[in-house]
Formats: sequence, structure tokens, C-alpha cells
Amino acid sequence: MKTGVLGGTFDPPHVGHLRMARLAQAQLGLDRVLFVPCCQQPLKGTLPVASAFHRAAMVALALAGKDSWLLDVRELDRGGISYTAETLEALATAYPRDHFFLIVGGDSLRTFRQWHRHPDILVAAELAVVPRGTAAADLGELPKKRIHTLRGRHLPVSSTQVRQRLAQGEPVPGLVPRAVAAYIQRQGLYGSGRPKAGRRID
Ligand code: ATP
Repeated sequence: MKTGVLGGTFDPPHVGHLRMARLAQAQLGLDRVLFVPCCQQPLKGTLPVASAFHRAAMVALALAGKDSWLLDVRELDRGGISYTAETLEALATAYPRDHFFLIVGGDSLRTFRQWHRHPDILVAAELAVVPRGTAAADLGELPKKRIHTLRGRHLPVSSTQVRQRLAQGEPVPGLVPRAVAAYIQRQGLYGSGRPKAGRRID
């Protein structure tokens, strides 16, 4: 089975994440994509804003109706700093017959050589890179055959942008799936309990 692994903070999940899975699945013929929310991202200097519970719940809502897209909570269960190399090892043990593709944005590829045990990551999985409007990464000595750049225009959306809009009481139409927008509003996440003039956020 060809399995995509899409790790992220998902704080919150947005349409850019879903598009990454769609592009990778279509262009690499993936049988399924595992969405893996991290506990703590090693290179992000800050902790996630929403709790692990809320981020997992939002990813589950974002994936509803997509049978081949699955939530995998092993990094949240493991706790602490989430190292992708460890996650891929655990996945290889859980699914020994699978061939793994790690799906990342172009910005992540630029920092890839700083990732913990990055050579091991490239042994455990091939990389599927989704353009994100950043300059091409310097791949140096990395094995180019294991790195696939997917075709597709950059979708300019980020979790930071979504959080900022919500904190200002702005709507986020088309930036997050509707069910995620409804959940954020119900739970009052990211300061969305204070929408301008009681506006809906989706
Ligand atoms: P934040 O704004 O909080 O830093 P983010 O939008 O980058 O978050 P993450 O969950 O941290 O989202 O990202 C998970 C992965 O998805 C990373 O590899 C990131 O590069 C990639 N990614 C996120 N948004 C996009 C996008 N719009 N296009 C391409 N890749 C993306």
C-alpha cells in the first residue's frame, strides 16, 4: 500500500492542508493519507495555541467523508517534541508492507536539513513537496530521486493567517472546511468568541 504521511500542527487545519493531500494522492497514486498532528514541533519555537484534543478533533472534522484520509494521533499519544523520524519508524512497524511518502510544504523542505535524523527520514519515506511560494530549497547532498516536487499552484493560506483573522473577529470564508469553522466558533477557539457584531465566521 502507498501511504502518504502529512504531519503538521493543524492549529487549525485549513484548505491548504487538504489540497496537499489531494495533490499527493492524485500525482503519486497514494492509497491513503495519514494526517498526523504533532504534539510539539521541534523547529517552531512556540507551542500550539489550541490543545491537542481540539486540534485532533478539527482534523477529524476536516477529513469527514474522505475514506482514504485518516487521522493518526500517535504523536499526540507519544507527547513531548514530535520527531518525524520516530513517527516514520513507528509507522513502519505498524504497517510493515507500506511504502511511505512524507508530504511537506516547500517551506518545510527549505529547513529539512535541520530536521532531527533527516537522512533516516529519507530512507524511511520519499518526500512529496507541495509548492508554497518559497524559493527553491538547496537540496545539497540529499538524494534527489527520493524527493518529488508536486505540480500545482501555491494556495496562499496558513494557520497563522486563520488565527489572526479569528482573533480580530474576521470571518475565514473558504480558508477552513465549514465543519472546522463551526467547531472553532462553538468552542470559542483563537479568540473567535468575539466575532464583530455577532458575525458568522464561515
Ligand atoms: P502556521 O501558520 O501555524 O505555521 P501552517 O499553515 O504552516 O501553520 P502546519 O500545520 O504547521 O500549517 O503545516 C503542516 C505542513 O503543511 C508543513 O509541511 C507546511 O509546509 C505545509 N503547508 C501548510 N499550508 C500549506 C500551503 N498553503 N501550501 C503548501 N504547504 C502547506
